[in-house]
Amino acid sequence: MKKLLSKSLWISICTLCLAACTIKSDQIAPNDSNARIASGDLYCSTITIDWWSVACTNGGETCYWSYMYPETKTDCSYQSSGPITGFSPAGVLLDGYLVPAADQRLQDITISSTLNTAQTTELREALNDFINPCLNNNLFSQLVVRGKKFNFAMGSSGGGLGGYNPNTNTITFASTNNITAEVLREELFHGYQDIFYSGGIAQYFGHDGESNIEFESKLFKDLVNMVGGGGMQSGVTADHPKAGAYTSWLFDMTSAGKFPTVLNLDKYQEYLQAFRECYATHNEPARPDLLPNALMQLIKGSNCPQN
Ligand SMILES: [Zn+2]
Repeated sequence: MKKLLSKSLWISICTLCLAACTIKSDQIAPNDSNARIASGDLYCSTITIDWWSVACTNGGETCYWSYMYPETKTDCSYQSSGPITGFSPAGVLLDGYLVPAADQRLQDITISSTLNTAQTTELREALNDFINPCLNNNLFSQLVVRGKKFNFAMGSSGGGLGGYNPNTNTITFASTNNITAEVLREELFHGYQDIFYSGGIAQYFGHDGESNIEFESKLFKDLVNMVGGGGMQSGVTADHPKAGAYTSWLFDMTSAGKFPTVLNLDKYQEYLQAFRECYATHNEPARPDLLPNALMQLIKGSNCPQN
C-alpha cells in the first residue's frame, strides 16, 4: 500500500473500507510544512495536506494507516478582509514544525479571554510547556493551521480541573493552580478532535460515543507520557484490575521511545471498556465504529519517531 495512489483510487479504497470495516472517511492530516508569507497587504498561506488511507485485517481487528500523497493548497486574503487564521508571519521551528514564536502562541489560538493578568501569564507559560513534547507540536500546529481558536475563562465543569465546551469553543480552568500543561493537553486535544471528526464532538456529549472521545484523549496523554518518560496514567486508572495490563500495552506500543502506527483494536476496545468502568462521568455506551483516527493521524502526520 505504500505507493502513490490517485484520488479516485483513494475514494474506492475508502468506499471499500467503509463497507468492509465501518471506518469513517475523514482520513486527512495536514503535515508540518505550513508557512504563512506576508507580502504587501496580501497574506497567503500554503498548506500541504497529506492523504492517508486505512486498511483493516482480521475482520477489522488491526488497521494500518498508509501514506498516499500530498496535496498543496494556497489561500490568499487581504488583511482588510477579515481576521486571518493560520500562522502569524513570525514563527520558530520546533522539531521540524513551524510554530508561532513563544509570545505569539496564545494569541494565535485565542478568540477571547476573561483571565486576569496573572492567570494569563500562567496560561502563556503552560502553553509553552505544553508545546515541548514532540506530538504536542503537531497538535498545536493542527489547531493553528485550521484556524481553531478558543475562549478562555475560569470556571469548573463537572468537577474536572479543566473543561472544553465544543458548543462555545470555551476552555475553562477550575482554579489558577489548574492552568497547567497537563490540563491543556486534555482540552486542546478535545479542540483538535472537534475539528477532526465530521460534525464535531458536541454530538457525542451525553450520548453514545462520549466514552470513545474521552478515552482517545486519555490514550493520547498516556502515549505522550510513555514516550516522554513521565506522568500519571489516566486511561485506565490504578484502582482498576486492568491497570497493569493497560500499562504493559502502552509500554509495548512505545518500545524504543517511538509512537505506534498500528493499534490492536481488540485491546483498544477492551481498555475503552475498562476506562468506562473507571470514569462514572464518561460511562455512556461506547460506539464500536468511532475509532481513534484523530490520534492515529496526529501520530502518522507528525515528525515524531514512529514504530
Ligand atoms: Zn476530557
